[in-house]
Amino acid sequence: MTERYADVIIDISHEKVDRVFQYRIPAELLEAVKPGVQVRVPFGNGNQERTGYVVDISVEPDYPPEKIKAVSAVDEKGMTVESRQIQIAYWLKSQYGSTTIAALKTVLPVKQKQKPLEKKKVLRCLSGEETVRAAIECEGKRQRAKARVLFAMQTEEELPYELIRQKLHVAAPTLQALEKQGYLRIEKEACYRNPVRVSDRNENRPSLNPNQKRIIEAVLADYRAGTPGVHLVHGVTGSGKTEVYLGIIEGMIGMGKQAIMLIPEIALTYQTLLRFYKRFGDRVSVINSTLSAGEKYDQIERAKAGEIDVMIGPRSALFTPFPNLGVIVVDEEHENSYKSETSPRYHARETAVEIASLCGASVVLGSATPSLEAYYRAVKGEYKLYEMKERPGNSMLPRVHTIDLREELKRGNRSMFSRKLKELMQNGLSKGEQTILFLNRRGYAGFISCRSCGHVMKCPHCDVSLSEHRSGMLICHYCGYQERKPSKCPSCGSPYLLGFKAGTEQVEEAIYREFPGARVLRMDADTTRRKDSYERILSAFADGEADILVGTQMIVKGHDFPGVTLVGVLAADLSLNRNDYRAGERTFQLLTQAAGRAGRGERPGEVVIQTYQPEHYSVVHAAEQDYEGFYGEEIAYRELVGYPPVEHMLAVLIVSHVQEAGERLGKEMTDLVKREMKDVAQLRVIGPAEASIGKISDLYRHSFYIRHGDYQVLVQAKDRLEHYCRERELKGQTVQFDFDPMNTF
Ligand code: ADP
Ligand code: ZN
Ligand code: ZN
Repeated sequence: MTERYADVIIDISHEKVDRVFQYRIPAELLEAVKPGVQVRVPFGNGNQERTGYVVDISVEPDYPPEKIKAVSAVDEKGMTVESRQIQIAYWLKSQYGSTTIAALKTVLPVKQKQKPLEKKKVLRCLSGEETVRAAIECEGKRQRAKARVLFAMQTEEELPYELIRQKLHVAAPTLQALEKQGYLRIEKEACYRNPVRVSDRNENRPSLNPNQKRIIEAVLADYRAGTPGVHLVHGVTGSGKTEVYLGIIEGMIGMGKQAIMLIPEIALTYQTLLRFYKRFGDRVSVINSTLSAGEKYDQIERAKAGEIDVMIGPRSALFTPFPNLGVIVVDEEHENSYKSETSPRYHARETAVEIASLCGASVVLGSATPSLEAYYRAVKGEYKLYEMKERPGNSMLPRVHTIDLREELKRGNRSMFSRKLKELMQNGLSKGEQTILFLNRRGYAGFISCRSCGHVMKCPHCDVSLSEHRSGMLICHYCGYQERKPSKCPSCGSPYLLGFKAGTEQVEEAIYREFPGARVLRMDADTTRRKDSYERILSAFADGEADILVGTQMIVKGHDFPGVTLVGVLAADLSLNRNDYRAGERTFQLLTQAAGRAGRGERPGEVVIQTYQPEHYSVVHAAEQDYEGFYGEEIAYRELVGYPPVEHMLAVLIVSHVQEAGERLGKEMTDLVKREMKDVAQLRVIGPAEASIGKISDLYRHSFYIRHGDYQVLVQAKDRLEHYCRERELKGQTVQFDFDPMNTF
């Protein structure tokens, strides 16, 4: 009989989990020892008995077998919260490919010493009316931050200190000044014996419509019946999905359960968080990227101790160790940011389904434009599907105009704005209404090339073209390399070295030319480099500090701008020109979400979609806000070519210091899969080839793809390849796995 070995970590609350120790599993314990189980093991020189967790089982010893000690006993305490977290780490490692340590680090919070957080509240000292008066006074003195707090306090008797600091971007001294002026009072949470509620909890709670009630009840009923399941809520932007999540979470809390609420980082706005604080008071906690590791650890400990009921946050909030998890909600489930970009490259949606099934919890997915993955499973009956097609109240869906840019050119219009868009922008400006202009820049480089010989200016370290900036510098967006734009072509000496101008900066300039006096805010990777600048720009726009907001895809997410009546998409099809099977889906999502930004207030909105491909199905169905129509065409294409979600795909990326070494390893790895898995029907191996970006920061990149209908077959292929790489002891090379990739390598 073959021996088996258990990888054990001794102390998971240690400052860093970076060591596992191998133990032999005695025959009588073979059954009982599994990932997640607690074991007693002899440790160190004195062989003192310690408790540890099993994180993996293997058949290969890492040391000479006679030197490996044996597991003494299995702890009878059963599965703890930690056991479950380790099971999740093990699942991540086996499903997505990573080291045990990387998987554990994803799941377990890093403990860091830090002084306990003082929870504080800000209370209003004046009446609502007086507070507004004070706010207006501050505005007059150009004290914007003070005004922002006071306006927010108009309707709230009290607000969490952290919400004001982080989401309204108000500094501590400003709050202290307001306290001195007698407008506000800052109090420590500990002063209160009972949990404090923000405002009156029932104050402005809409009464749910029958459809919302039906969905909430269906999800809770399935949970009570012991069949929690996965539920997909397909609802247009503003149809009241968040109210549904709140209702489901409230029902779960009523049953003594906890909830994880995933929201893309970019949509964790003041308004959204306020809704959760209002409903659940200080039983809510938020994890986001602005928290330090110590603060995160603190939040997680509170969750484990049962001090909170709801954890809100991006991807990583998924691993909150609640003792009685009832539901995981994944809002905007189609968002790319739910896929981890580092190993293990897990998808939060799939991982949520796994965690929920380990805990007996429900999963609720929500989106206006569901991912093909989620909708495909819903159509197959694996997920339950609910539709929300209307916006509550009298907020109407916008009117959409699709403009053929080729026609505009024929009529002699060479500007960035079609005649229709120009007319509507002018109209909006004259009425004091706001406009959003969206430049779809994905897959587009502001490259410069020689008009005489065609030479393209490229980064010497990366295989990508350099982008021209207004400063006259050429910049590489992958490694940060910069050089001054040469006056002559380095290849032929021609002076006609010109940029292809269509960046956000150029849009801003064009607006100033066409509409002198318009106030413009610009949001793109350059203007949002600083932490929080994203939300600063958005709140400035929401406060009416500009008439027009220009930006890339980041402006179409999440935010509510009641003042916006016009959304213009300048070149809808730029994202279609990518060598990427998800291009059609992304374009549809971006256009639909962009259109959803218009007319969320009382006034109806208008949307102008400018495109060179008005007949493309992504554009046509987005203009009609017709998800089913889009899904039908897109899934037919995926079926035809065998792409996810119909079949599965494993992308393997090899990064090497030496180009030839990368080529060789790629060949060896693909040969190995073809040889060892030749009996697997329908297994396809594509490549190896140079990756779509062949070089980044002087490291060479090669990739290949394996496709099959059964995900587990790809997991087997990954296991064989990992084994091969271990034996081969790679030097100067790394191999990364990506299942069902969002971007091709
Ligand atoms: P979504 O999450 O689908 O974008 P929200 O839940 O944010 O939609 O709802 C959009 C707006 O409609 C919010 O201001 C919300 O308070 C309001 N709303 C939601 N449900 C109702 C309802 N049943 N009656 C009236 N207003 C509602
Ligand atoms: Zn040239
Ligand atoms: Zn570079």
